[in-house]
Amino acid sequence: MKKVAFIGAGNMNSCILVGMVNQGFNAQDIMVTNPSAPKREALAEQYGIHQSSDNIAAANFADVIVLGVKPHLIKQVCAEIASQIDITNKCFISVAAGVSLAQMHSVLGKSATIIRCMPNTPSQLGLGMTGMFADASIKSNIKEFADQLLASVGKVHWVANEEEIDNLITVSGSGPAYFFAFMEAMQRQAMAFGFSEQTARELVQQTALGAAQMVVQNQDDISTLRENVTSKGGTTHAALMTFKEGGLDTLVSDAMKACKARAIEIT
Ligand code: NAP
Repeated sequence: MKKVAFIGAGNMNSCILVGMVNQGFNAQDIMVTNPSAPKREALAEQYGIHQSSDNIAAANFADVIVLGVKPHLIKQVCAEIASQIDITNKCFISVAAGVSLAQMHSVLGKSATIIRCMPNTPSQLGLGMTGMFADASIKSNIKEFADQLLASVGKVHWVANEEEIDNLITVSGSGPAYFFAFMEAMQRQAMAFGFSEQTARELVQQTALGAAQMVVQNQDDISTLRENVTSKGGTTHAALMTFKEGGLDTLVSDAMKACKARAIEIT
């Protein structure tokens, strides 16, 4: 079993490492680093993993180094590691939006083994959706290990071109927040109709869960599922017509385009 270092104990890295431990990955084979102590100490205490403030110690410990810092810090962290240890047999997995393989190779060297991945936060529950990309030159055993690592916390989709990672960010990477925003809006209106906060939340969360499960378990198109619950002139039809008149499709499409533009400009 390979050892894994998580550089950065923020939201995304925490979700992946918690998911890995919950799925049975040996906690003693995981180390997390973070400049400030509380996040890494809490993870170490709760999940039995190693923790440190020292990225070099973590990179030395591990075969696989998961870079989970904000995009503008990726090159700095890569430079720090590459300047102090031999990275010949290390594999870097970057979860950063908008940082290309070329940008990382410019710091780590042409021969460095780097995989880009775009996970999402439901990884914490083993329900993640991760997009991955690596150069064709990557060794198959390394690709397989990276695949297994992320598959332990959800589904994995390898893209054929690096540009597709930016498209994928707009769907699965940032997507959980879109659904949260929609659920928040529904909860607010349910409360405005007089339901308590707790009841409104339960109504919304169970509805979202049920709808998602219907999509998962049905072979039908999502549009067919929608049509099946929409009688012409009925209550659902009235609600959906309001979405249509308000330009929901355009709004979603514009939001996803804004997400992609930001992914491209972020570094
Ligand atoms: P975050 O919660 O702010 O996590 C970043 C962490 O990196 C923080 O805990 C920060 O510590 C730590 N850090 C800063 N400098 C460091 C250094 N030199 N060495 C080690 N750790 C350092 O951000 P996030 O949302 O997890 O995002 C992290 C990466 O995941 C980003 O590149 C983002 O593009 C990617 N991503 C995020 C999501 C998502 O849904 N959040 C989805 C897909 C991909 P301090 O807080 O102590 O400064």
